[in-house]
Amino acid sequence: MSAVLVINSGSSSLKYQLIEMTTETVLASGLVERIGEKLASTKHEVSGEAHKRELPVATMTEAFTVMVAAFDEHGPSLAEFPPVVVGHRVVHGGKRFFSATIVNDLVKINIDDLSELAPLHNPANLQGIDAAELAFPGVPQVAVFDTAFHATLPAAAYTYAIDAEIAEKNRVRKYGFHGTSHKFVSEAAAEFLGRPLAELKTIVLHLGNGASACAVDGGISVDTSMGLTPLEGLVMGTRSGDLDPAVLIYLNRKAGLGFAELDTLLNRSSGLLGMTGRGDMRDVVAATDAGDEAAIVGLSVYIHRLKHYVGAYLAGLGGADAIVFTAGVGENSPVVRAGALEGLEFLGIRLDPERNISPERGPRLISAEDSAVAVLVIPTNEELEIARQALAAV
Ligand code: AMP
Repeated sequence: MSAVLVINSGSSSLKYQLIEMTTETVLASGLVERIGEKLASTKHEVSGEAHKRELPVATMTEAFTVMVAAFDEHGPSLAEFPPVVVGHRVVHGGKRFFSATIVNDLVKINIDDLSELAPLHNPANLQGIDAAELAFPGVPQVAVFDTAFHATLPAAAYTYAIDAEIAEKNRVRKYGFHGTSHKFVSEAAAEFLGRPLAELKTIVLHLGNGASACAVDGGISVDTSMGLTPLEGLVMGTRSGDLDPAVLIYLNRKAGLGFAELDTLLNRSSGLLGMTGRGDMRDVVAATDAGDEAAIVGLSVYIHRLKHYVGAYLAGLGGADAIVFTAGVGENSPVVRAGALEGLEFLGIRLDPERNISPERGPRLISAEDSAVAVLVIPTNEELEIARQALAAV
């Protein structure tokens, strides 16, 4: 038996899962939130039971101590299931990291160097690695990068059409994110369809609070909607996605908005929230049902953008065998799924309305029998994918 501890460390949170890898079962999962505030809240779930507490947790290192104490108190025993490897989600791997990588000092320096591309994430991910090294001395640490799956993008897809020298000097290009999810979901789709991954052209729509689309050809990412940062592409909960870059220049000149304000505007108060006053798709859909005009327009913008990418990736791939919906919105919103594919029957894409609204969970087919393209819902599992890659790396 071998257990893998999966760590997702954020600027003020620590999420973890201990996964037994022969059966790929979650032995325990938990989170420590509001690290550094007066009171942090913790949750440790084991055997379907959640153990919650509130206590001060000042640093990531302390959060790890709290996590280990929760294992001691509520199980399973880390002596019985010692992690053979700790897998860390690391957001930005730049051009350097194209697969899961065993952490050493040089790797840490490189992750740190990429912090300027992901200032909210990479420093926090590094803190998680440092804390894990202290808590689990001698256990290998593996970094699994959100960008790595997109290392295969061709230059035509990743190059921004700006001055090449400026782009190169400042590492400005499309990197793409949600790679762990896109990889997991595209592989799970091949398995679900019982077809070799190498033969499949798949469009994955990861629609969570953050959202991105990915064109996968034979298991390889060939295009994706997020860019230099996770701001580009689809409309998200609070992020704008694509817009004319001149909007920034114009708002700076016209409304006097500075860089910090523009950053906040586009990342935190745009998207569904900015358009409708609601950042959660459930609330937006409920508001459209109640006739709320802003919600109706906001949802239509969200769906319009989604369809735009589906069309682009169908063209780029030369057709698709499967279109896969995943993450919070993708797994749970029949309205969004139906909207994104409406009118695409001429391309051989035909949803089955009954299957689409079925409350079923788990991987499922939602296209009609006569649909040339299989439309699937596949729940993503980034933690399991990180655990698999971390174990494979050692
Ligand atoms: P994620 O980032 O994958 O956890 O997705 C979170 C988002 O999924 C939430 O912000 C909601 O907008 C969305 N979501 C969750 N459940 C539903 C649902 N039943 N219907 C529509 N959207 C949902």
